[in-house]
Amino acid sequence: VLLSILAVAAVADDVIYKDPKQPIAARLKDLLGRMTVEEKIGQMVQIERIAATPDIMKHYYIGSLLSGGGSVPNPHATVTDWINMVNEFQNGSLSSRLGIPMIYGIDAVHGHNNVINATIFPHNIGLGATRDPDLVKRIGSATASEVRATGIPYAFAPCIAVCRDPRWGRCYESYGEDTKLVQSMTEIILGLQGEIPKGSRLGVPYVAGKDKVAACAKHFVADGGTTHGIDENNTVVSEQDMLKIHMPPYYDSIIKGVSTVMVSYSSLNGKRMHANGDLITGYLKDKLGFKGFVISDWEGIDRITSPPHSNYTYSVQASILAGIDMVMVPNNYIEFINDLTLLVKSKIIPMERIDDAVSRILRVKFTMGLFENPLADYSMVNEVGSQAHREIAREAVRKSLVLLKNGKQVSDPILPLPKMGSKILVAGSHADNLGYQCGGWTIGWQGFSGNGNTTGTTILNGIKSAVDPSTEITYMENPNVEAIKSNNFSYAIVVVGEHPYTEMFGDSSNLTIPDPGPSVITNVCGQLKCVVVIISGRPVVIEPYMSVIDGLVAAWLPGTEGQGVADVLFGDHEFTGKLSRTWFRTVDQLPMNIGDQNYNPLFPFGYGLTTKSAIERSLSAGIALRPFVLGILVTLFMSLSLSHWYIA
Ligand code: BGC
Repeated sequence: VLLSILAVAAVADDVIYKDPKQPIAARLKDLLGRMTVEEKIGQMVQIERIAATPDIMKHYYIGSLLSGGGSVPNPHATVTDWINMVNEFQNGSLSSRLGIPMIYGIDAVHGHNNVINATIFPHNIGLGATRDPDLVKRIGSATASEVRATGIPYAFAPCIAVCRDPRWGRCYESYGEDTKLVQSMTEIILGLQGEIPKGSRLGVPYVAGKDKVAACAKHFVADGGTTHGIDENNTVVSEQDMLKIHMPPYYDSIIKGVSTVMVSYSSLNGKRMHANGDLITGYLKDKLGFKGFVISDWEGIDRITSPPHSNYTYSVQASILAGIDMVMVPNNYIEFINDLTLLVKSKIIPMERIDDAVSRILRVKFTMGLFENPLADYSMVNEVGSQAHREIAREAVRKSLVLLKNGKQVSDPILPLPKMGSKILVAGSHADNLGYQCGGWTIGWQGFSGNGNTTGTTILNGIKSAVDPSTEITYMENPNVEAIKSNNFSYAIVVVGEHPYTEMFGDSSNLTIPDPGPSVITNVCGQLKCVVVIISGRPVVIEPYMSVIDGLVAAWLPGTEGQGVADVLFGDHEFTGKLSRTWFRTVDQLPMNIGDQNYNPLFPFGYGLTTKSAIERSLSAGIALRPFVLGILVTLFMSLSLSHWYIA
């Protein structure tokens, strides 16, 4: 009786774990020593906000909450609504015996993409094309401010998948097909969490302060290598290639102090990653020295058995023993808690494993100051969608655009387009559609179509504001040939592409541009000099239309700041983007990546023209004119050395 009275009694304020002046190790030890098994297990549980109440938070000592996919407090939620919701749950947690704050996580994967009027940055495939790690760090920093402004301290980003097959519906969440490129982009972690102090111990998580968030490198590991690019499937790869292709971005993330790592739904050579102790504990934690916490994916542990959830107790056992510290349950928390409690009480899962998991979770919470500042205030609300962040997004858009073709002949470039005195037709379903240009993971899991769901500038409006008043812009979504002919257009900009998608619904085996995109291209470009802007999460079939197209631009999924497209089309800024993926000719070439044998793409990895000069274009194209340029260089060199020899 005395013990249970002690266990439920609130803890005094002057104890070590509550004292911010004490070292984290001492606070951790003190707190862990006070926790019951129930309290420890509760810390390891992450539930969906829809399944939670403040009372549940308190009663089950729940360690974490999430907004999965597009889970919002209400369909019109304002920043204040978000803060109020998070604080309400947090108050539930704080009223538990030890008052351990919960950590709220969200998929802020291209800005704070669940929140209306937030700044939406280009998806990672476009950021990879910028080749600009410093820009990506600034994007991380802006994202952190917007996320934290809503009271949320944890983002499930970045996705550091090395996508090896564009048929995968999450390929756009990857910075590219090349390991080194993805490694360089882990710089975003320093923006999200803050610069790691010099002399920090390797692998220790770091989050700088109240305007930063804990980051999450995902999905561990080789999620981008599944056969035929099928989502959540099996990656067949030798250990050597896995370590060479898919693992290195995790080294960089750990060096940068990443707080958490999320496990992949996929399997590796037939073994579910959620049960892969050799890689989670053996490699990530023991070998690489990662000291943050490992989180499962949404119902990821259920998939250890086939069919999913057919032996949940086994799934709990296998995943926790493999080294998963926090489980994104996210709904069936009672079943999870009961199973884990049983496994611990029967010593199938040793107490040391639980203590290790809880210590990792608490270390992140202590490090980021959650114990001192568990509740959000309203001081940062203006960060969401701020002008300064939109400027960064616009810069990112223009740097992410890749110029693939400029003129039917080198001597006849179409870009930059004239700003003055012309009559331009803008066509295609993607020219005036904010939802399409943002893609998946935007105001909803699978994205949206149309305008009005959030604030931003469509590409059409960006074009309108870029040109001189003497230029007339006419928009026709899907014009017929007569309409095109009967107007006296000088140029056309055709904006077509894919419709929003993400995991589960985004895989494609044909990678064609949806109708009527192809016929808009052929109708418009058959009549007018045209620039085609492709909005897509990956390369799409374009070769059949190349002969009618004058200019071709890959714009990926640029996000809310459509003016960035006009910035480069009309020459206010130069094109600098380089392909972060190989652009195939036909899908039967796939998977095709830089370095493969018989590499014969339409545009190679790294390709990207500028508008500056024909010579520069041919050099950066590097294909057609390479022998020619090389020939000139060799001749020059030979004549120089010959003349030298002759003089000597
Ligand atoms: C995705 C993760 C995401 C999680 C939470 C899963 O379905 O694979 O990337 O972080 O959901 O929404």
